Amino acid sequence: MVAHARKSYPNECCGALLGASNDGEKRVSAAVPMENVSTGPQRSRYELRPEDLLGADRQARREGMDLIGIYHSHPDCDAYFSETDLKNSCPWYSFVVLSIRDGKFDHANSWLPNAEQTKADKEELIHPV
Ligand SMILES: [Zn+2]
Repeated sequence: MVAHARKSYPNECCGALLGASNDGEKRVSAAVPMENVSTGPQRSRYELRPEDLLGADRQARREGMDLIGIYHSHPDCDAYFSETDLKNSCPWYSFVVLSIRDGKFDHANSWLPNAEQTKADKEELIHPV
């Protein structure tokens, strides 16, 4: 995740998180880098191809895992969950945001949005990237 985020700097990167979830605890086993296909400014926007997400979901199942989250980076910005992030969110995924400053990893947060897309709770990251 961090390597992908640093390589994509100063643009945003994005990808999928595969793993398992039980009793409210999610364990990430693999991060799958994806192409940012946003046609807007990629320094502040990301968009995933629905096919890529579907592909990651299939890969997860094949390997006995689930697609449990999405990650993306915030170049020269804090790892907060933005209005846009909220608008494009879905409540069944965790959203990991990585803050990259000057091309270096700064910090990361994980967010769990509600179904109404009105707010996202911060989740505890036990082994931050
Ligand atoms: Zn964002």
